[in-house]
Amino acid sequence: MTRKLIADRMATLGTENAFKIGMDIRRCEEAGKSVIKLNLGEPDFNSADAINRVAKQEIDNGNSHYCDPAGLLPFRKVIARQLGRTRGIETDPERVVVTTGGKPPISFTMMTYVNPGDEVVYPSPGYPIYESWVTFTGAVPRPIHLKEEKGFRFTADEIEALVSEKTKVIIINSPSNPTGGVLTKQDLNDISDVIKSKCPQDVRVYSDEVYEEILFDGSKHYSIASVDGMAERTILVSGHSKTYAMTGWRLGYALLPTLEEAEIFKHLNINIISCTPPFIQMAGMEALTSPELPPIIKNMGEAFEERRNVVVKMLNDIDGVTCAMPRGAFYVFPNIGPVCERLGIVDDHEKLEEKHKNELCPSAMFQMFLLYEHGVATMDRNSFGSIGAEGQHFLRLSTATDMDSLKEGVRRLEAASGDTDGWKKFFESGILFQ
Ligand code: PLP
Repeated sequence: MTRKLIADRMATLGTENAFKIGMDIRRCEEAGKSVIKLNLGEPDFNSADAINRVAKQEIDNGNSHYCDPAGLLPFRKVIARQLGRTRGIETDPERVVVTTGGKPPISFTMMTYVNPGDEVVYPSPGYPIYESWVTFTGAVPRPIHLKEEKGFRFTADEIEALVSEKTKVIIINSPSNPTGGVLTKQDLNDISDVIKSKCPQDVRVYSDEVYEEILFDGSKHYSIASVDGMAERTILVSGHSKTYAMTGWRLGYALLPTLEEAEIFKHLNINIISCTPPFIQMAGMEALTSPELPPIIKNMGEAFEERRNVVVKMLNDIDGVTCAMPRGAFYVFPNIGPVCERLGIVDDHEKLEEKHKNELCPSAMFQMFLLYEHGVATMDRNSFGSIGAEGQHFLRLSTATDMDSLKEGVRRLEAASGDTDGWKKFFESGILFQ
């Protein structure tokens, strides 16, 4: 019997294309093209001085050794206090586990609760790592297909139609990546009613709240954990990447419903990373407590809101593009369906041989055309969950870049949306299939 080098399970692991598109961008730039990068999922601001100062001091003081795998207790106490105050729930630092970013709790959750064959409900389009771990753990994916006309919110009815006796985890992400959709207090109350009435007590809600501070139009963040009877079912996750522009620091945390579950997350930390660097945790504690931070967060939010207003209007002015108004996060998610039809991309996709047809979707084909021929990097619909996404043609544009670049990026998108000859040449060039 011949053995394969790579274990079969690796074929079931998805990815986050935001990290992969870099290679295409580099190729374009090496060929002398200017590329406007609207693909980035991180604030275009640096971490604040107050945060940086503490990290440097801590390193100088020798706080650079292994530490508590659950996270430093003083930091966990600050997190527990903050979550208790902002969500109006009972918390306990012993139920808080610090992780290297807001991403690890996704895999921890799948490994902790889900057996092969269990069902996981998650938003699509949604953060791609959800679907990636659902398939990797052998769970049955139950995507909630978010609708543009509902501002990418979903309702209790939609959850109700998807839950069954096999449901084990329900993932919620508000404000959302990639749509900027925000679930209202009423949505969350209604969704909670369904969960409480239809799901046994051992079904867990994964509430991804990493964009909790980036909200527009004066709205306030509301967590499903705040709904009566939900904190005891919810894994509440947030982190420092987005709120404090600390993406490269790798800092996040989860509040678990029970000590037993927190112990398992800690155990996973021990097995995978040992601990989150202590000097980073001390800097993260400063972020949560320093009076210098709130005005910085406010300014950042205002910049994102101003850019959103400009970009959404410009996109809606393009023939064949519609764009819902995001209520939070720093993304816009325009529908480019009519553009894909007009350029002939939908037809060209239909005619592809099976292998390429499965690998590519029309929005990915337009996304590559936009990058290689018009110099704008964006993300395609299927980068945010591809199961059941046929016929949905969207792009994600990040507003985490300066206003002039954003405007120029949308102008280039408009040019691409009418460039039928350019598309034909690009399609025939074969770049899509390299
Ligand atoms: N959850 C969502 C919805 C995100 O958009 C991201 C990052 O883009 C993460 C989690 C992961 O965050 P981190 O970089 O802190 O691991």
